[in-house]
Amino acid sequence: MNAVGCLTVTFALTMEQVKCLIIGSGPAGYTAAIYAARAGLKPLMYTGMQPGGQLMTTTEVENYPGYPHGRTGPEMMDDLREQALRFDTEIRQEMIVKVDFTGPIHKAWSESGTEIHAPAVVIATGASAKWLGIPGEERLQNAGVSACAVCDGFFFRKQEVAIVGAGDTAAEEATYLAKICSKVHLLVRRDEMRASKIMQERVLATPNIEVHWNTETEEVLGAEGVEGIRIRNNKTGVVSELPVTGFFVAIGHKPNTDVFADWLTLDETGYIITTPGRSLTNIPGVFASGDAQDKIYRQAVTAAGTGCMAALDAERYITEHGL
Ligand code: NDP
Repeated sequence: MNAVGCLTVTFALTMEQVKCLIIGSGPAGYTAAIYAARAGLKPLMYTGMQPGGQLMTTTEVENYPGYPHGRTGPEMMDDLREQALRFDTEIRQEMIVKVDFTGPIHKAWSESGTEIHAPAVVIATGASAKWLGIPGEERLQNAGVSACAVCDGFFFRKQEVAIVGAGDTAAEEATYLAKICSKVHLLVRRDEMRASKIMQERVLATPNIEVHWNTETEEVLGAEGVEGIRIRNNKTGVVSELPVTGFFVAIGHKPNTDVFADWLTLDETGYIITTPGRSLTNIPGVFASGDAQDKIYRQAVTAAGTGCMAALDAERYITEHGL
């Protein structure tokens, strides 16, 4: 074996033992880290590819207690990260790609090959944006199609764009885009929106947002970039085209739990099932928090709360089992 081969083998066999491994880094992960660190567990956190999670793509957060004047999602995540680092948390920006929860010492592997052994694992992997699955959508991603208005809205300033969805995310992103773009078409598949009343009122009061009720998107049009979309009114069957250059999708999320599917009990949509009122999963020593296990509330503050619960459960588990 040559020198390079030896190096590769050595790297792949890197093994570390920690008391508490935290997988994921949204409000749930950071809160778990703060609690676990203050309990002396010296947690190791793997943030995944998007440190901070979904809040990194959110504008103003007005409903997180303690911020009377609001705070942007990225600012809030910076605050939480700083707080986790202030105590004894090690944070790595990398994915966990495989786990073995045979226990009692659980194992996880990072994408660069590090093998981590930990008696307690806190899962806080959150959820990812869903796509429509229509022609043109995938082909034109990063060429006018986006699932993040806050990240990409800037590229469409003074242009006409469309956004699909009818929940709080779509309402919030439509309002955000309306500040940058000349016109925003909000495409709602039913004759009502799911978004909270205050968010809907904001949308309806914004002059350059046009809401298209009972409307579905059939195709994203364009060769190199988005040149328009074809929409259909599902009540009248009328098909028409909108000349937009940006197309945003805000139709909800899928929990990031695939890597745990062989070990943890998940519901039919992939959310981790926990003991009601607790963070316990079906595997002793593995605790779940945040959006990966919550399809009802899905708020930053509830995610933070369950992150706290998971860290407290992990600490209690380690103490009770003398691990
Ligand atoms: P939601 O699941 O609440 O809403 C998804 C929306 O997308 C629904 O209106 C749904 O329509 C629509 N939809 C789904 N599939 C399709 C499709 N194929 N074609 C067209 N439309 C489709 O997701 P959100 O991301 O909006 O919100 C998630 C959670 O986060 C919620 O609990 C929300 O309250 C919260 N949130 C809070 C914010 C805040 O308070 N600042 C900001 C953003 C989110 P239908 O209604 O017909 O099912």
